[in-house]
Amino acid sequence: MKSYKIIDHEYDVVVLGAGGSGLRAAVGLSEAGLKTACISKVFPTRSHTSAAQGGISAALGNMGEDDWRWHMYDTVKGADWLGDQDCIEYLCKEAPRAVLELEKYGVPFSRTDDGKIYQRPFGGMTKNYGNEPVQRTCAAADRTGHAILHTLYGQALKHNTEFFIEYFALDLLMKNGECKGLVAWNLNDGTIHRFRSHITIIATGGYGKIYYSATSAHTCTGDGNAMVLRAGLPLQDMEFVQFHPTGIYGHGTLISEGVRGEGGYLVNSKGERFMERYAPKAKDLASRDVVSRSIAVEINEGRGVGKDKDHVHLHLDHLDKNVIEERLPGISESSKLFANVDVTKEPIPVVPTVHYNMGGIPTNYKAEVLTLNGSEKTVPGLMAIGEAACVSVHGANRLGSNSLIDLVVFGRAAAKRASELVKPGQPHEDIPDSETDKCLSRFDKLRNSSGSNSTADLRLSMQKTMQSKCAVFRTEKTLKEGIEQIRKPFEGMENLSVKDKSLIFNTDLVETLEFDNLIRQAITTMDSAYYRKESRGAHAREDYPKRDDEKYMQHTLSWCEGKKTKIDYRPVHRSTLTNDVQYFPPQERVY
Ligand SMILES: Cc1cc2nc3c(=O)[nH]c(=O)nc-3n(C[C@H](O)[C@H](O)[C@H](O)COP(=O)(O)OP(=O)(O)OC[C@H]3O[C@@H](n4cnc5c(N)ncnc54)[C@H](O)[C@@H]3O)c2cc1C
Repeated sequence: MKSYKIIDHEYDVVVLGAGGSGLRAAVGLSEAGLKTACISKVFPTRSHTSAAQGGISAALGNMGEDDWRWHMYDTVKGADWLGDQDCIEYLCKEAPRAVLELEKYGVPFSRTDDGKIYQRPFGGMTKNYGNEPVQRTCAAADRTGHAILHTLYGQALKHNTEFFIEYFALDLLMKNGECKGLVAWNLNDGTIHRFRSHITIIATGGYGKIYYSATSAHTCTGDGNAMVLRAGLPLQDMEFVQFHPTGIYGHGTLISEGVRGEGGYLVNSKGERFMERYAPKAKDLASRDVVSRSIAVEINEGRGVGKDKDHVHLHLDHLDKNVIEERLPGISESSKLFANVDVTKEPIPVVPTVHYNMGGIPTNYKAEVLTLNGSEKTVPGLMAIGEAACVSVHGANRLGSNSLIDLVVFGRAAAKRASELVKPGQPHEDIPDSETDKCLSRFDKLRNSSGSNSTADLRLSMQKTMQSKCAVFRTEKTLKEGIEQIRKPFEGMENLSVKDKSLIFNTDLVETLEFDNLIRQAITTMDSAYYRKESRGAHAREDYPKRDDEKYMQHTLSWCEGKKTKIDYRPVHRSTLTNDVQYFPPQERVY
């Protein structure tokens, strides 16, 4: 592509994304002496990780007895037995070390009276294998993600990670099934950059923005997932989309589970604490899929609050004002700002809102991406971590506070594995220009599209379809309609209009590239949901209300070429990594 100015770079490792996972990997890689680039479309500390409120789980036992095996059991059960237990074992065993490392790096955790890291109760976190709630979620007030992200950014700078900020990555550079780097567009001056690297680590976060109402930032468009699809590789378990029970009604802003951890509770229009009926033991602290479904049932059966009876109330006005001030200052502020509610006096109006993607790029516990074309082979040169990856430790449903720990445990694992695979300064192979041309011709085509459909209209149509056809409850009928309707905005791209043709901070083009990424994930999500004919975790089929372990102890794999998908399955790992713990066989999941 002669019309674009291309600048070349060579790095041992390139990390794509500067959220918690990307930065943790970058710190480890730089510490190991590898020449590391970290690329981000937004300023690192604006990544979505900074919005994480409630906390990060680890069985430290600072607030009473705890054991990483109990954490593992809770995670296996939370995942509704779709998680891979070898990977979950690794996550939970490594968690305490990863949190203490964050403390050493300087994360300003809240403290107990005797100076230890403060830990709060969270949904689904228990001791003695489900018997009673445990305080396992380490918190820096209700701004835990913000604290972690700023600390890790400081550490990455200290260890000389080289940052490429406001660079938008377009596609991976693949050669004979191996990843050799990527191509990115510098939003600031319009130049195109080709990064050669021995390993590329995708850390681009989730794709919540395929839905209309989501707690995710506008930047959560799953760009890395779409790059993987375009490289001909599959995504895994895309049908598992987590709805957080408490997004602010009408706005979607998150009210952390930490609120219920500190004693907040939900009520319906009759003033009933309805969670007592659905989860007699855990009540408001049952896992998220259970609480979201319970709210949806209350609303569907006419017990919602408000004029349209379409949401419920979250009370914390009974809590001590000092607890609210010290431990929940951020949510008091959001409630005032977005719902005009003084939380010390009135309840917050809330509704289940899209929050997290359990599915993503399939990897092993060392963060290496898998091809899964009949076997579990790794893709040389490619890794994935954080919400973009599907290890899978969250299976069919993630427990609150288990994502932040996933970011740092697997960010660290990726750095460790990369430093085993790559020697600092190892020479690079040539990449044929045809790969760069392929990537730039997609870019050029989108940039010069002069049809009549605006990206905003196509995006809205995709988001409304996902919201209505692939919601908390799903049926054959809604999903079948969804499969057809979701392809319309994709077809609409053939007649797309991008008005701004410039190359400098062209937000019209950025949003178009993001839409091109989102729509592929919307299609794979809808199709994966259609073909899974059972209910498990966050995937609730009204027509198949039971979990079917005979048929579906399997991860869904989805490939996407244009609007066509291919769906396949691979068995869940039914073993642990070491003899330190036994495999937990499937049980009925009650809270
Ligand atoms: C409101 C909210 C609250 C949450 N609270 C908690 C909590 O309390 N506890 C918990 O465990 N989990 C929580 N979660 C989930 C958790 O925060 C996220 O899953 C996690 O932060 C994702 O981190 P990440 O590193 O994968 O990606 P992100 O933090 O999303 O970062 C993605 C990075 O990729 C970059 N990027 C993306 N695409 C491109 C591109 N094309 N080119 C260049 N760069 C790109 C972005 O610039 C960014 O730096 C919360 C999530 C939300 C939305």
